[in-house]
Amino acid sequence: MSSETKKSIRYLSGVQPSGRLHLGNYFGAIQNHIRLQDEGECLYFIANYHSLTTVQDPEALRRYTFMAAADYLALGLDRTKAFLFRQSDVPEVTELAWILSTVTGMGLMERAHSFKDKVARGIVPTLGLFFYPALMAADILIYQSDKVPVGQDQIQHIEMARDMAGYFNHTFKKEVFKLPESVLSQTPKVMGLTGGKMSKSDEASVIPIFGEPSEIKKKVMSIVTDSKGVAEPKDPDNNVIYLLYQLLASAEELSHMENGFRQGGMGYGDAKKLLLAKLEEIFGGEKREKRKKMDEKPDLVEDVLIESAKKVRKIVAPTMEQVYEVVGIPSSQIKKRLLD
Ligand code: AMP
Repeated sequence: MSSETKKSIRYLSGVQPSGRLHLGNYFGAIQNHIRLQDEGECLYFIANYHSLTTVQDPEALRRYTFMAAADYLALGLDRTKAFLFRQSDVPEVTELAWILSTVTGMGLMERAHSFKDKVARGIVPTLGLFFYPALMAADILIYQSDKVPVGQDQIQHIEMARDMAGYFNHTFKKEVFKLPESVLSQTPKVMGLTGGKMSKSDEASVIPIFGEPSEIKKKVMSIVTDSKGVAEPKDPDNNVIYLLYQLLASAEELSHMENGFRQGGMGYGDAKKLLLAKLEEIFGGEKREKRKKMDEKPDLVEDVLIESAKKVRKIVAPTMEQVYEVVGIPSSQIKKRLLD
């Protein structure tokens, strides 16, 4: 890829600090985010405004926000290659979300699956939860993002962002916003320990990336299986142990487990031990040490967040000036006079 093309692709993505980051976040999104830092201009944010729809404890929100940023850095995000910032440090995003909502029909919002799924899972249906796709559209469009690397659950939201960009451009007769495209990882949907999607809103479903080894061991060893004995053949395809192992193991290691299950000879206990060892190999050692250092020096994480936010605020400025201009809201120059 030429350096010109490299610079010209802007990737944007976010993660909610509404719990500890888990294997679904990693294999569905973060692994891709880290790889892409060598391929384009990457902007990744910790979506703390989004998390307010489920976390209403200020200490927890601050802690999860820090933890998400520290996890990214320990997993390999390089501050010299990518931006990592808090959503709320770019307040223009919430301003734009409102403006986009004024050109968006209720019909579009009502079709959002994620709102219905979250309500079905017991999350209180607040106006904020319903408005979520408009805030997410603003998150994406304000940076003139080209590509949005996400898991399967976010695809509809990106389609909605494209629709909102189109409504805005059409209403104000100017191509202010680019239409972004989604990019799926190789594992767009990681299954959780309780059978459905691995999700922060169901603690029992997750394996946190940087959980304590004893906690991870307990979670893996208590994965519920059927009662087939070691020698009996088993179906790996609907087996969480196998499905998670698939994300971590080499082809050879995987076929060892698969053959053991299909032909018999691989017991669930042994399979769980293999899964645990792989988790430790991939997320233990150096990565866990790096993650611990962040806890000891939280200022390092804060520095990255602030430095990135300062830079990305410069990226949003020209787009917001165009938005103010076309809708008829005073420009930032005029707003500055309010501070005189
Ligand atoms: P969230 O947990 O909503 O903050 O999601 C952060 C990123 O992780 C998004 O790109 C999601 O699509 C992705 N993600 C979350 N859970 C999963 C999962 N179980 N499988 C695959 N991707 C996921």
